[in-house]
Amino acid sequence: MTAKPTSPGARPGEVARSDPGRLLPARSPTDDPPGRSRRGPARRRTFIADVHLGRLARRLRLLGFDTVYRNDLDDPDIVAIAVAEDRAILTRDHGLLARRAARDRGLLIASGRVAEQVRQVLTAFDLFGEVDPFRFCLACNGRITTIERARAVRLVPAHIADKYAEFFTCDRCGKIYWEGDHLAGLDRIVEESGPPTAAGGGKPAKGG
Ligand SMILES: [Zn+2]
Repeated sequence: MTAKPTSPGARPGEVARSDPGRLLPARSPTDDPPGRSRRGPARRRTFIADVHLGRLARRLRLLGFDTVYRNDLDDPDIVAIAVAEDRAILTRDHGLLARRAARDRGLLIASGRVAEQVRQVLTAFDLFGEVDPFRFCLACNGRITTIERARAVRLVPAHIADKYAEFFTCDRCGKIYWEGDHLAGLDRIVEESGPPTAAGGGKPAKGG
């Protein structure tokens, strides 16, 4: 069995592509059609979420967007990280967005419902075509990479080891993932936060 070490530069989106990839095709930076609008700062695809938005953060991670969330960050911390790492700020707090450094990189999240929050983010940043599930750890936002099956099966319950062929791990916290429960709800999440179906042009075509 040849070990397949994941090089640091490897595209993390390669993991778990087989199953969730069918939901919405992954895009590479070269996929952009020439006429695609780029709305300056609105094209950001990395985020930091405020303390009220933990569920939104997890869903964005699930959909493949690098999203910092910690419940111990205060407003100045959030703004400082956003500026240092060039992230958009997602917040339900007007006060946070009133900070000078936050003004051109903030999005005030309107709804208390997570599906609508996801839809607002994907719409505001024009990201429906960028959904590339399962690249970031839901727990800590670390990168998800493949892990050798032989190693993984020692770390998961026996019934899971028997049931699944492929396993993945977070390079930061070591959490083990498999294509079972973690991805079972992905269909629904993409569906319920999907783009409005007006004009029939919303979803990217399959394949290609
Ligand atoms: Zn993790």
